[in-house]
Amino acid sequence: LTRMYGPLTALSNVQVDVMTALVSFDRVFEVLDLKPMVAERPGAERLRGTGGAPAIEFDDVTFRYPAAEEVSLASLESIARTDTAPAREVLHGVDFTVAPGEMVALVGPSGAGKSTITHLVSRLYDVTGGTVRIGGRDVRDVTLASLRDEVGVVTQDAHLYHDTIRANMLYARPDATDEEIRAALRAAQIGDLVDAMPDGLDTVVGDRGYRLSGGEKQRLALARLLLKAPSVVVLDEATAHLDSESEAAVQHALRTALAGRTSLIIAHRLSTVREADQILVVAGGRIVERGRHEDLLLAGGLYAELYRTQFAPQAGRGRGGSMNVAN
Ligand code: ATP
Repeated sequence: LTRMYGPLTALSNVQVDVMTALVSFDRVFEVLDLKPMVAERPGAERLRGTGGAPAIEFDDVTFRYPAAEEVSLASLESIARTDTAPAREVLHGVDFTVAPGEMVALVGPSGAGKSTITHLVSRLYDVTGGTVRIGGRDVRDVTLASLRDEVGVVTQDAHLYHDTIRANMLYARPDATDEEIRAALRAAQIGDLVDAMPDGLDTVVGDRGYRLSGGEKQRLALARLLLKAPSVVVLDEATAHLDSESEAAVQHALRTALAGRTSLIIAHRLSTVREADQILVVAGGRIVERGRHEDLLLAGGLYAELYRTQFAPQAGRGRGGSMNVAN
């Protein structure tokens, strides 16, 4: 995903007018990069929340990334190309269900396919084989706008615009009131900090503004998620080391942000894998183990090994610390 945020970050400096005009970050995302990669079917219907959180289902999913030349051609022609040249398949027969309201953690070595799995939930790409469903609907059958509304994505490096806190929050939901913004900030454990800033919601953040710490940025990203209130959350947990206090605040914000939502998380933190309803261990583009933390530990397989080398050392650091299980 970093590959796609890169150009956006560069553009955010030079195309201020465009960014301002296109109030929704999701729309910027779509217009600049994503829309050409996937096409909306004629007659696609809105993915409508049925009141509760929907299930996410991967049904025998295979996937290969389109070759580079096809990406640029697709972008030029604004069409999705499905007749890609045979590139290397990175997911093979991936099959799992995240039940409504559950939190499922993806772990595994670097390059295993964790990020790719999350990309398919938000339909950054289309599957090569099999089906991805949300709430029982094939994601290819619903409108892209409704999918962007229902699926909230939080990446490792919370992207902040060089703009006010309010403007950064409004990217998540352009019609939010100050009261709603404040409520989301409070729920994400960052309300007090913003209140204490000299200009409150009007404080300019980002590289050339008020510098937020890693933990504060993560909480702001979670506040944005709370404001957007999607029914599905796809999250790549940050790997940056946080001090104990920030770690506890981020965990608290995360729990609030995920409550009542269906979530799929690339997990780097011990507290997350412990709390997950199910852990999917991904290796070589397949799910090689699945289950809860204690059961997988007892099984003594790849998870137990990952735990020993990556997660267990965090226990020694109390509530602080975060490690990248993938690298
Ligand atoms: P990490 O923990 O290091 O982020 P991961 O488990 O998330 O790894 P993915 O990023 O999903 O792994 O990558 C799976 C495979 O797909 C890798 O072999 C990677 O090189 C390849 N890959 C990832 N993104 C692209 C892309 N945009 N184009 C082509 N190949 C890609």
